[in-house]
Amino acid sequence: MSGRNTVQRTIIEDELRRLANHPTADEVYEAVHASHPSIGRATVYRTLGRLSDEGLIGRVKINNGADHFDHQAFAHYHVRCTCCGRVDDVMIPVLGEVDEAAARVTGYQITGHALQFDGVCPACQQGLASTA
Ligand SMILES: [Zn+2]
Ligand SMILES: [Zn+2]
Repeated sequence: MSGRNTVQRTIIEDELRRLANHPTADEVYEAVHASHPSIGRATVYRTLGRLSDEGLIGRVKINNGADHFDHQAFAHYHVRCTCCGRVDDVMIPVLGEVDEAAARVTGYQITGHALQFDGVCPACQQGLASTA
């Protein structure tokens, strides 16, 4: 990996940490591009993909929507607002027992599961958020 790539990677990872709220790749790109216009969209997408493949950041897959990225790579759940599309953490204990139950009934060696909550965020409940 060249020095330039390492610098770009650090900038992109720092921006994800600064945004902190599960941005999409496009949102990371907009933020990175504002301060570092030489970094292109493809670089941001590729770098986010690599960071998540390496387990350094999380990727939140959304049904019928763009993936969101997460500076917190440890296992945790997310809730998505069905009105404005924002994604927030749901810090409840990860349900290890469902992995065991799934292993029992399928014979699979279960390596993990995905659980996404849907709901209406506090701002949308008060009619404060703009629709997206
Ligand atoms: Zn909302
Ligand atoms: Zn998260």
